[in-house]
Amino acid sequence: MKVAIVTGASRGIGKAVALRLAHDGYTVVINYSSNEAKAQEVLDEIKSFGGDGMIYKADVSNLDEVKTFVRDVYNAYKQIDVLVNNAGIARDEYVLMLNKDNIDRCFDLNVKGYFYMAQQVGLKMFRKKSGVIINMSSVSGSYNIPGQATYSATKAAVNSFTKTLCKELSPSGIRVCGVAPGFIKTEMTEILPEDKKEEYYKAIPLHRFAEVNEVANLVSFLVSDEASYISGITVTIDGGLSA
Ligand code: NAP
Repeated sequence: MKVAIVTGASRGIGKAVALRLAHDGYTVVINYSSNEAKAQEVLDEIKSFGGDGMIYKADVSNLDEVKTFVRDVYNAYKQIDVLVNNAGIARDEYVLMLNKDNIDRCFDLNVKGYFYMAQQVGLKMFRKKSGVIINMSSVSGSYNIPGQATYSATKAAVNSFTKTLCKELSPSGIRVCGVAPGFIKTEMTEILPEDKKEEYYKAIPLHRFAEVNEVANLVSFLVSDEASYISGITVTIDGGLSA
């Protein structure tokens, strides 16, 4: 048995990753912050094809909740083999109109949340001298567009964190990788106005947004033994947008 925690797995990319890892044979911990019904639907789907796991409500931007979360998962399964730091938010606004609460919320979840989870899970993986941590970044971390200063800065921080974490943990058998999606069909991008979407389709060489499964396929590969010599890199999956 192998155990994977996916943060923010009730919807979007996290849900697709949870389902894919369950198909790959992992027992999957589906973390969510508020939407219990959606998280339960993911677990029900996993159980419908013979998979296993649990749902767990925790705000991963809160260190106390993260400590309790990781302790409970470890007590339940006695091991954590994969962590996918995925829960993240965007609060797009132009710099001259930045709102302090939005800046704080983005950094608390997108950056500090990843640090907290990696630290608490890393301590468990360190005991076993094995594990894989995936940090869900964004192409916005290196390909900047107006209106995304806060989000881009958080994802650039994630890219930097992936490299440091690799250098600290990989000597102990723990691989660390990032995944930097471009535009993916989720609630995060659904809210974009149609004319804006058309503009982006033109700018993306593959002329479309990605399906969540296309990101999940990449995560599945990176956590597998097929990727046993890959660590410290953030892999872009953006249809060529940032090429
Ligand atoms: P999404 O559909 O908005 O889903 C967000 C998930 O995060 C939900 O499961 C939500 O749980 C959970 N969540 C929110 N706040 C949380 C918190 N404080 N603690 C724990 N969980 C929390 O997001 P998405 O579009 O799939 O994005 C997932 C990741 O991919 C993010 O890191 C995002 O930056 C990155 N990304 C997305 C895109 C894209 O085009 N969508 C592109 C590049 C990168 P509830 O359901 O309970 O609220």
